[in-house]
Amino acid sequence: MSKLELKRRGLLCVVSGPSGSGKTTLCRRYSEENNQAVYAISATTRKPRDGEKDGVDYFFLTRDEFESRNTRGEFLEYAEVHGNYYGTLKSEVLSHIEAGRDVLMDIDVQGAALVRSQKDTSIQEALVDIFILLPSEEELLNRLNFRGTETQEQIDLRLNNAHEEMRHWQLYRYTIVSANKATDFSTFSSILASEHCRSNRLTPDPESKADDRELDF
Ligand code: 5GP
Repeated sequence: MSKLELKRRGLLCVVSGPSGSGKTTLCRRYSEENNQAVYAISATTRKPRDGEKDGVDYFFLTRDEFESRNTRGEFLEYAEVHGNYYGTLKSEVLSHIEAGRDVLMDIDVQGAALVRSQKDTSIQEALVDIFILLPSEEELLNRLNFRGTETQEQIDLRLNNAHEEMRHWQLYRYTIVSANKATDFSTFSSILASEHCRSNRLTPDPESKADDRELDF
């Protein structure tokens, strides 16, 4: 008996949330566990932290390199965050979506607004935006992981940035109030699983062996 197969276009999954919300871990883990998903590595002008590798964690660029690639129209979106540029290269995104692979992007709220405002219909149809909220001020302080070595000014800056990011959660189609890594990942995966069933992203696979004498639609 032949079986109906549907082909689907990939999702463009934009994930934002304050520092410590676990958004990078969710995106990375999902792309590692699903071979039809990729993590979009961002470009940045900030300096690598200990252990960070070029081309793995970020593409580390000088300000001049970033600006000339931006002039050439290579970025899907970019924003200045904490005094550095961060941006997503189109080459990390568009061909994957066309090929039916999901692209996971961990970006700030300004970048997410730019992706939402794109006119390109293939981006609009692919877009799924998710915000990760923290449940309390106490949890936010825990997750920001202050080591007791920061000045009051640094603490205030990081707290303000986190509050500022969280003010935007209602602009996102989905919001996850973070519980723990396992629960958050399960909720995140369920959202993507539902989005995979949206009819408007599905088409009958021309390669499929479905016998259309049996299925009349
Ligand atoms: P960090 O320097 O701690 O790795 O990241 C700082 C912030 O930059 C995070 O909120 C992260 O989501 C955001 N970010 C990382 N990559 C991008 C990007 O490509 N575009 C935008 N707009 N923000 C990004």
